[in-house]
Amino acid sequence: MKQLQSESEDMCAFPAESAGQDADIVVLGAGVVGVTTAYSLARRGYSVILLDRADGPAQGSSFANGAQLSYAYTDALAQPALLAGIPAILAGLNPAFRLRFTPDPDFLRWGLSFLRNCTKTRFAANTRAALVLGFESRLAMAGLRDRHPFDFGHARPGKMHIFRDHASLQNARDTVAIKQVANVSQELLTPAKAIGIEPALSEIGSFVGALWTPSEEIGDPHRFCHGLLAILTRQFAVRTKFGFTIAGVDEHKNRIVVRSSDGMTVSARNAVVCLGADAPGVLGKMGIRAPILPMKGYSFTAPPGANAPKVSITDSARKIVFCRLSDSMRVAGLAELNNGDPRPDPARLQLLIDNAEAAMPKAAAYRETSAGWAGLRPMTANSIPIIKRARERVFLNVGHGMLGWTFAAGAAERVAKLIEAEVGNPMNDRSCIE
Ligand SMILES: Cc1cc2nc3c(=O)[nH]c(=O)nc-3n(C[C@H](O)[C@H](O)[C@H](O)COP(=O)(O)OP(=O)(O)OC[C@H]3O[C@@H](n4cnc5c(N)ncnc54)[C@H](O)[C@@H]3O)c2cc1C
Repeated sequence: MKQLQSESEDMCAFPAESAGQDADIVVLGAGVVGVTTAYSLARRGYSVILLDRADGPAQGSSFANGAQLSYAYTDALAQPALLAGIPAILAGLNPAFRLRFTPDPDFLRWGLSFLRNCTKTRFAANTRAALVLGFESRLAMAGLRDRHPFDFGHARPGKMHIFRDHASLQNARDTVAIKQVANVSQELLTPAKAIGIEPALSEIGSFVGALWTPSEEIGDPHRFCHGLLAILTRQFAVRTKFGFTIAGVDEHKNRIVVRSSDGMTVSARNAVVCLGADAPGVLGKMGIRAPILPMKGYSFTAPPGANAPKVSITDSARKIVFCRLSDSMRVAGLAELNNGDPRPDPARLQLLIDNAEAAMPKAAAYRETSAGWAGLRPMTANSIPIIKRARERVFLNVGHGMLGWTFAAGAAERVAKLIEAEVGNPMNDRSCIE
């Protein structure tokens, strides 16, 4: 087998190679979660190798998502309000939300767990737990931007959810109350007040109210990953290995060896798995269960239209988010639970474009849509990511669901702190991680 050659050994602050490994930590997956994890580790003095099967970062679900940094809108998917809609989803009557039923045990286990999380109490607990991670992420991202001010289209335009019926408005009111423990600044507005803040809402048709969260941010995850990775490989002990399709991971007493499908190997003292919706497959071969289901979604990017909103807008009924991203409009939506095929289906993409145009006809130049895309949200049943030590040398940072871009910076800090606490920090004592 070929051994990975160090591409920039001089950048390694700590010569892990001398102990027979390529790095202290190998991070599997270079989506937004893997790239931020590499950053949080490298900042603490670990040498890192970041692997991905793609030819660059953010080619999976982090490529063209809704671009929302929704630090305050962390509502768990499993909730009492969704239960009422399940029969329509199962009957295929909800075009925005589809469910692919398969009789395999992993799907059934996940489904039962999801249903158990649909109670009022669990919804409140899961939403609050996600909110804590959201706030940690906002802090972590602000720190990162202060230390490394590179451009990824970051802005704080605020977010407006619009509701077209009184039941969903009441549901929003109840959820705001759940979050009041954390002093979230969210305000329910009349349509007139909402239009006062975002005049483009005047063309959205009839709605009964809106939820305004002025602190919400946006940014392009793909540009972010490229920008941060350039800093990581220049200024930190981080090397990358792209075009590396993981075939297997071997756990030895003193190291982890990752094998590629074409016979390469990379070794490190520890591994962090950040493989998004593909995590269950790779972990399954290692005998580690990761209860994650893919939930496919779509996006398209078009030039702003004649009446493009400046604030981010979520049309809750149509399950669409509009985001003004630098000089374009990013529109994302649709949910297909248990569909693991990342290829865009042209008919579904067209449905998203048609729905968006029906909701906000002048928000985007729909005929000039340049790029349509589909991705897989890695969903846990309770909408909380799995961040833990799964084995002696294997850590997980997976299952960020609908909010992986939002949670990435905070989740990366959590897993890096866990590793630091459990295996030691190379800045303090190198021997403790031998
Ligand atoms: C339509 C849509 C809209 C969304 N909108 C938002 C939003 O507005 N805000 C928000 O916060 N979140 C949003 N999300 C969710 C967010 O995009 C994801 O949660 C996030 O991208 C997950 O990041 P990740 O790094 O875990 O996974 P990924 O970005 O998928 O990264 C996993 C990486 O692992 C690699 N990989 C997988 N298998 C292997 C293998 N065998 N060998 C080597 N490499 C492998 C892949 O190539 C990939 O690069 C949205 C998702 C979708 C689909």
